[in-house]
Amino acid sequence: MDCLFCKIVNRDVPADIVYEDEHVLAFNDINPQAPTHILIIPKSHIATLNDIEERDLALVGRLPYVAARLAEERGFAEEGYRVVMNCNDQGGQTVYHIHMHLMGGRRFTWPAG
Ligand code: AMP
Ligand code: ZN
Repeated sequence: MDCLFCKIVNRDVPADIVYEDEHVLAFNDINPQAPTHILIIPKSHIATLNDIEERDLALVGRLPYVAARLAEERGFAEEGYRVVMNCNDQGGQTVYHIHMHLMGGRRFTWPAG
């Protein structure tokens, strides 16, 4: 499958991997928007939020769980951080394998741009 993030999972494309378990991979974003900017992905391919099925719920639930663990590990869990999932064109999605952005280390504004 011609999916960049599947290629990262399969080690066909290099990435700066910061966390891995049986179900989830996390790596530094190549174009960071914050002092910490990590992408957390399921190892199995799901293209968009719209494609999540009931059988995926436990897997997808691991994404915020891992985000919080990484935030804790990096010391900004208490002060706060931002997680984002973009869906499709208007949502700003550019890679069609779902991913949770974990951004920390600075103050974020709301609403998002
Ligand atoms: P989105 O726009 O929500 O689909 O986010 C895609 C993210 O993937 C962007 O923040 C990109 O900077 C990031 N990205 C694209 N290619 C790579 C790569 N090879 N390694 C790490 N991050 C990447
Ligand atoms: Zn994929």
